[in-house]
Amino acid sequence: MNAKPRWIDEEYRGIVRTGFRLKKRVFKGRSPFQAVEVVETAGHGKLLLIDGMTMVSERDEFVYHEMIAHVPLFLHPRPRRVLVIGGGDGGSVREVLRHRSVERCVLAEIDPLVVEASRRYLPSTAAKLSDKRCEVKIGDGVAFVRETSERFDVVIVDSTEPFGPAKELFGSAFYKDVRRVLTEDGIVVSQAGSPFYEIATIKNLARLLKPIFPVVDAYLFTNLTYPGGLWAFTYASKGLRPLRDFKPARVSAARLPLRWYNADVHTGAFALPQFLKDALGRR
Ligand code: SAM
Repeated sequence: MNAKPRWIDEEYRGIVRTGFRLKKRVFKGRSPFQAVEVVETAGHGKLLLIDGMTMVSERDEFVYHEMIAHVPLFLHPRPRRVLVIGGGDGGSVREVLRHRSVERCVLAEIDPLVVEASRRYLPSTAAKLSDKRCEVKIGDGVAFVRETSERFDVVIVDSTEPFGPAKELFGSAFYKDVRRVLTEDGIVVSQAGSPFYEIATIKNLARLLKPIFPVVDAYLFTNLTYPGGLWAFTYASKGLRPLRDFKPARVSAARLPLRWYNADVHTGAFALPQFLKDALGRR
């Protein structure tokens, strides 16, 4: 008799479930911060899950990582030093290091178990963590920006949701320190959650960014694996505006092997639906 197919379900906020057809469980571990799992699925490649929430799927991670990295890096006139906070799967670092101008990329990840599991089971996202331009610093990203004397052109906050170890990454004190470590053309982008399910997170993040940065915006992308499919990043800078200062010719001239991001997608990502514009107090 055929065995019943097995599924792995992500339960989100107790109101929605996303099931992935399971081929095999590859790794399961627990750090002082969270449970970390890697599974092989029938339709989405390997999945990295943290506390049962899908972080990365091999099938669609390129969307998230291209959008979190190339929007700020094609906006900044000459990004040389980049800080990634969180991002232990390595996907954001991989995209940052595609830019030949980048000389140094620091990854400040609180949980070494995420980095180890990604290095071992997700080489497609983690391979560039061994690039000589990348330095992995294990520790709290909040403490890193508070204590570092380094300066960065771009900061990417690729964190989990605003609870547990990531809670303070959604606070004013952290972003005041981010502003301090950014150079004069500095840009910070942050994983901000679902406009459908977490509009309060996006609203609160935009509200706390406004007194700290002269330019604050949000941009969207869609993917296969996050609940509801539509997801947001916040954008903040010391002056560079995401559309006015964007030079589409830079993207085609760079000739990077990208599969989602391009100049049209960059522009379109900042076209927000009315309910989100209303929530952000935008006309
Ligand atoms: N793409 C995913 C998403 O949208 O939810 C995020 C991926 S990445 C795996 C999230 C990382 O943030 C995790 O590895 C987690 O350990 C890390 N993290 C959470 N809080 C942190 C903190 N305070 N400092 C540094 N890293 C943190």
